[in-house]
Amino acid sequence: MRSIPAVLIDGRKIAAELQAGMKCETERLKSEQNLIPGLATILIGDDPASRTYVSMKKKACDSIGIYHEEHAFPEDVGEGEVIRLIRQLNDASKIHGILVQLPLPPHLNERKILNTVSPKKDVDGFHPVNMGNLIISDGTLVPCTPAGIMILLERAGVDIEGKHAVIAGRSSIVGKPVALMLLAKHATVTICHSKTRNLGEYTRRADILVVAAGRAKLITEDMVKEGAVVIDVGINRIDGKLCGDVDFEGIRKRASAITPVPGGVGPMTIAMLMRNTITAAKSTLK
Ligand code: NAD
Repeated sequence: MRSIPAVLIDGRKIAAELQAGMKCETERLKSEQNLIPGLATILIGDDPASRTYVSMKKKACDSIGIYHEEHAFPEDVGEGEVIRLIRQLNDASKIHGILVQLPLPPHLNERKILNTVSPKKDVDGFHPVNMGNLIISDGTLVPCTPAGIMILLERAGVDIEGKHAVIAGRSSIVGKPVALMLLAKHATVTICHSKTRNLGEYTRRADILVVAAGRAKLITEDMVKEGAVVIDVGINRIDGKLCGDVDFEGIRKRASAITPVPGGVGPMTIAMLMRNTITAAKSTLK
């Protein structure tokens, strides 16, 4: 056990600072370029968590000065109707970013729907063109959660070069893109997943541990190296209370820095969505 508990990486505070800067930027874009960044969100069905996420995104748009429109469909909407709307939004001049709230109902083809979003308006960074750009380290619209994690590491003063980063989770939304971003910053990266045997053998060797598995308390104190930086991406609910993928109280005593849940990665994801929307809007000026 370390004598000093881990530094708390305060995502809420960092996101608020970034969003204050973005507000100044949207004011300048409006006055100097007559440009108001615009985000359209598409919500299908009535999953309460998805509803909450969409309303948090709307609130962030309002506070920053980003135009927002929400398109809601019932659970049983046909794929054609969703695709038609996305095509209209691709052509709409006041919309610079399109976000399809995931997960989608099982009858819809998620890949087909995400691929319909114009890569230029793909503020989630999920289109194959933007994913490909990320692989060659040339991304402008990059996935929000991984981008937020990189800023948290930077703000916490973590030197990434040469460090061993271990990631638990290999999804296209978090695990794989964050691995690419850490590689681009010269970390040595290990990706673990549900079929990895003896997860602890890998996590114990991590200088930087990113956990995005969606399994409450997957990572316990004995699975973390003393002094490691721990980024907890997971969002789980136990008895109605939010918690991450790591045993926060135990690991806090061993790590040098850790993100809380809530208040760590989550607020950064929204801030990065706002940043991508402004970036997409600014790219229309060139
Ligand atoms: P996902 O279900 O798509 O992927 C989970 C990954 O974890 C898979 O690659 C799987 O192989 C791996 N995994 C599952 N069990 C494991 C185990 N026992 N050991 C090692 N790996 C294991 O999920 P996702 O979309 O990547 O999200 C992961 C978590 O992060 C979820 O809790 C999600 O809610 C949360 N999340 C949070 C934010 C945020 O803004 N804070 C954003 C996206 C996702």
